[in-house]
Formats: sequence, C-alpha cells, structure tokens
Amino acid sequence: MRGLRDVLEQSEKDGVAIGHFNVSDWVLLKAVSASGQELKVPVVVGASEGEREFVGVRQLAALVRSLQEESDCPIFLNADHTHSLAKATEAAWAGFDAIVFDLSALPFEQNVRQTKEAVEAIKTINPAILVEGEIGDIGTGSEIHERAPDLSRGLTSPAEAKQFVESTRVDILAPAVGNMHGMLKSMVQGQTRKRLDIQRIAEIKRAARVPLTLHGGSGTDDEDLRKAIAAGINIIHMNTELRVAWRSGLQEGLAKQPHEVVPYKILPFAVEAVKKVTRSRLQLFNANR
Ligand SMILES: [Zn+2]
Repeated sequence: MRGLRDVLEQSEKDGVAIGHFNVSDWVLLKAVSASGQELKVPVVVGASEGEREFVGVRQLAALVRSLQEESDCPIFLNADHTHSLAKATEAAWAGFDAIVFDLSALPFEQNVRQTKEAVEAIKTINPAILVEGEIGDIGTGSEIHERAPDLSRGLTSPAEAKQFVESTRVDILAPAVGNMHGMLKSMVQGQTRKRLDIQRIAEIKRAARVPLTLHGGSGTDDEDLRKAIAAGINIIHMNTELRVAWRSGLQEGLAKQPHEVVPYKILPFAVEAVKKVTRSRLQLFNANR
C-alpha cells in the first residue's frame, strides 16, 4: 500500500483533499471504510485521545490494519489532537500512520519547542509517521455548541506558519483560517454555515510550503471547501456531522423496531446514516479526481 506521504503528494497534484473522519466505535469505522471503498478514494480514520481511550489504542490500530489488508484503496490511521508526548509515542508504537501533536493552547514559543521535541521522538520510533502541528485557535469539542466562540484573534498568520514549520519540522500544518471545532445549533439545522478565509489559506500555503489540514470541517459552506482545496488544503477533518448522523441513525433504528434487541439489526441504521455523510463529503473533496 502507498504511504500517506505519497497519497498526500498525489492529492496536491490532482487538486483534491483527503477526507479525515473521526471514529469512536465500529459503526463509524465501518461507515468510513465502506465509503472510501465504494468511491475508490483514500481515507484517513482519526481518533482523538478520548476516542482512542474508548476503543483502545492498539485495538483501533489492529482494526484499521485488518481493513487495510482487505482494501484496494488506502486507509490510514491518525492520532488526532494528541496533547502529550506519552500519548504520541503510545500511538507511534501502536502503528499509527500520522499523529496530530496539538499544543496550540500554549504560548507560541512553548508550542514550537515541545512540538519540535515530539517530532524528533516520533521519528525515532518510526520515520514514516507524519507529524502534524497546530497553531492558532479553532476551539475545542466536536459537539453542538450553544454560541459561537470568538476565534478572530486566534487566526494563523503566514509568518507564524512559516516560522513554526521551519522550527519544528512538522510534516503537516493545521492553521486557524475561520474553521472551528464542533457545530452551532443553527448549522445542524442547516440555517448557517461556517465560512473560511480563503486568502489566508493561500498565503499560509505559500509561506509554509507543507500539506495543510483543515480541522472542524463540519458545517462548512460547500463552495468554501472547494475554494479551500484549490488554495492548498490537503486534508479535511469531519467529526461532528458524523456524530449527529450516528445519533439520528441509532434513534431511527430503535424507533422503527421498538421491541428489537439484536444489535446487528439496529446498528445498520446508524452505519447507513453516517455513510450518507461520509460519501457526500468524499464526493465533494474528490470532485477533481
Ligand atoms: Zn481537530
């Protein structure tokens, strides 16, 4: 199987982005891998510290490895939002393909110093693992938020991006460009959409010269996502939209069969609901392929 670095380079040439979808159980993982297979596009499976804790770090790695063995399309595993070196090395030893080392909440200099150390430690375990660093403020929690946080002062500047990448030697950068983790109620209801700073993405790309990840993609305007890919975004994270679908699919499965207790008769509703989201997002991200 081609490595993530190769697939990223190819996606840059093709003008497409790789879909990154978070999972906390087998329902989500099944939906994500099936969508990639059906559309014949690569996907990245992501798991934050909390998601990894629930599924099991080595157990998730084993599940994704078994899917990789049966798949004709690349499926990668990313340790999303890792806040400590201990958790990063745990994922590296378990065989993850990529690690998001996120100390963006710390002051810039501290973030630079500790991310640089983490890159070195991870590459010592396995030089093929891609390390992503984060700067700027994109909020926390892939869930439904009551009100929008003010993230305007946490936007990433091109100069900061360049300095961060050069000093830390991260393989991938996650900037703050109008994106935000989680969704507002009005976004779930389809009344509002997130908007991105496309100009800023293009400037950061020119300055940093590395693959860029867009976090908090859920609820973003479709046209902005297309423009963001054209401006240099290579990986797009989706989590909250999948979680919303997971819940409504589960509710549908339970409501339609009020007396059913067999999990494999209830859970397929959740798989289908999540697949609807992952398929349509992958179609959008890979429109040029
Ligand atoms: Zn994220």
